[in-house]
Amino acid sequence: MLLDDILAHNQKFVEDKAYTPYETDKFPSKKAVILTCMDARLLELLPKAVNLKNGDAKIIQNAGAMLVDTSDSAMKSILVAVHALKGEEVFVIGHKDCGMHHLHGADLLEQIGNQGGDVETYMRQAESEDVANMWFNGFNSVEESVESSASLIANHPLLPRDVPVHALVIDPATGELTTIRNGYEKTNN
Ligand SMILES: [Zn+2]
Repeated sequence: MLLDDILAHNQKFVEDKAYTPYETDKFPSKKAVILTCMDARLLELLPKAVNLKNGDAKIIQNAGAMLVDTSDSAMKSILVAVHALKGEEVFVIGHKDCGMHHLHGADLLEQIGNQGGDVETYMRQAESEDVANMWFNGFNSVEESVESSASLIANHPLLPRDVPVHALVIDPATGELTTIRNGYEKTNN
């Protein structure tokens, strides 16, 4: 059982004081706030590929590094990171070969229904069928998606205008980054 494995490892980890190389505080040393995808390939690769160590950044992860509206909980996390935790720079980092690429909410809901999810109740509680489906929609282009998320973040009324918001795409195999939006150029204008 995975939980048992985790707890057994954890007990030894603490006993051996294996945590000492990771000691830091809650304020990000590099003052970076990163919104990225929950993809398991990025777990170790992303911090290594961008030279982040423990304590350097606030990392917010969700499906697809997507922020589709400003009431999104990712937006709240970014604002908390900037205003309460000294974050000064925001990076939206999507990746190639993302599970949200070409994901259609209606298809996923059908699958959820087949797997025993109570789609009927979910639909009844939603504002409309369209809204219910859209909630699960992915994107057709990761470049457009990170640009759109970065733009929503940058234009949020509660985000200070001098906070740069960058958009990048990472290759989950090589870690290579492509810059889609350079936030310095936007804030300097
Ligand atoms: Zn992904």
